[in-house]
Amino acid sequence: MRKVDVLIVGGSLSAAGTALRCRQAGLETLVLERKKLPRHKMCSGILSPRGHRFLKENFGKIPEEALHTPKLCRGVNFLFPDRSQMPMDFIEGPTPHLHRKFSDCWAIKSAGVDIDEETEVVSFEDKGDRVVVEAKNPEGPISYEAKYMVGADGPRSTVVNHLYPEYRKKLKWFMVMQKYYKAETDLSEEFFHFFIDDTLGHYPWTHIESGEWIVGVGGFLQDNMKHRHERVVEVMKQRHGFVIGKEVRKEGCPENFGLSLTNRYEFGKGRILITGQAAGFLNMMAEGMSCALHSGSHAGESVAEALQTNKNVEEIYRLRVQDEVKHCSDQWNPFQILVAQPHEANLKQGLFAQGPLKAAYWSKEMIKFCKQFHGLGWGKDILRGSLRRILTGDYGTPYSIPKK
Ligand SMILES: Cc1cc2nc3c(=O)[nH]c(=O)nc-3n(C[C@H](O)[C@H](O)[C@H](O)COP(=O)(O)OP(=O)(O)OC[C@H]3O[C@@H](n4cnc5c(N)ncnc54)[C@H](O)[C@@H]3O)c2cc1C
Repeated sequence: MRKVDVLIVGGSLSAAGTALRCRQAGLETLVLERKKLPRHKMCSGILSPRGHRFLKENFGKIPEEALHTPKLCRGVNFLFPDRSQMPMDFIEGPTPHLHRKFSDCWAIKSAGVDIDEETEVVSFEDKGDRVVVEAKNPEGPISYEAKYMVGADGPRSTVVNHLYPEYRKKLKWFMVMQKYYKAETDLSEEFFHFFIDDTLGHYPWTHIESGEWIVGVGGFLQDNMKHRHERVVEVMKQRHGFVIGKEVRKEGCPENFGLSLTNRYEFGKGRILITGQAAGFLNMMAEGMSCALHSGSHAGESVAEALQTNKNVEEIYRLRVQDEVKHCSDQWNPFQILVAQPHEANLKQGLFAQGPLKAAYWSKEMIKFCKQFHGLGWGKDILRGSLRRILTGDYGTPYSIPKK
């Protein structure tokens, strides 16, 4: 049985953040990734400027093969029912368009730790002084032992499912589905486009990726995604000169959307930490790479500090990760949106660029769009978190271990 200081479940960006910090602290670190690398990852690949800064500062220049064409994205463009468009440039300028298959592989390998590929964690036990992990690889079952374990295994996290089974069952799962087309449209190739139109469901988007236009939709389990997708394609044709040459392929996946809005992150227990999207980090527009990298690095730093000081790792992590909680939850906080600039695309400049009448129409449509989420019970949590942020400066995620 291999014994290490830190075992990281998952080999994506949050794992890369953790692995790098552990390696920098001189810890024997092992990543278990269930797939063979490089692996496919369903993602638009628009790296936020903050995510870009993290990658540059910690991993160096992103290699060409880790980028899609167009290689840069200027920002986010909202599309409205009257055909008007509200482009919002990233405040720091255009940002890389990552090809996740290769960028994730580059990042995790650059972290410089051992990786066991095609090794899926199936169960684990916190023994108090170590964690025993059971996994399987193509040869069969395999066991590991680690002083600490970090779950960086994404939205359908095995680690979270084991630690919080009841809570996970109660989650309202969000689904996304996208189709790739060889097509023409009059929409700009420089932006990620998002439809603010409540007749198109909760998350309708389009953008180009290496010569193919992607049209995607999101919704909850009970929603008819096929019908929703057809409607978005129809609207693309009517409003944006969308002419399909060929449908290339389609894909979909479930997402744990909603946790960062409602401040219901999961950070782990005992010797097991949770980070990245597994913990619930997801910024506005489903931008999850920057918070995966940052929260991952906090997890790595926490493990290093715990080993140095013999303090409780969970306490250390809950304290360190607060910065990222604030950053992420601020993006969904209506008061922060009104008085501060929590987003990296310039919302206020975009909103007023075409005068007050247009700004009023766009605001009305945005409010209508948000009303689709009514009934999920998120409003109370968002309001509670927002008020707490005003009164205390944070979201009140426990700084010490919860009682139960
Ligand atoms: C359609 C779509 C579009 C998106 N577009 C963007 C975008 O443009 N910009 C952006 O910033 N974010 C985007 N996101 C979100 C972003 O992809 C995620 O938030 C981000 O990848 C989370 O990183 P992570 O490291 O936490 O987890 P993931 O990237 O999900 O990685 C988890 C890893 O763990 C592995 N794993 C899972 N279970 C196990 C196990 N039991 N054992 C071993 N390994 C395991 C998986 O194979 C995977 O490699 C998008 C997401 C979707 C679905």
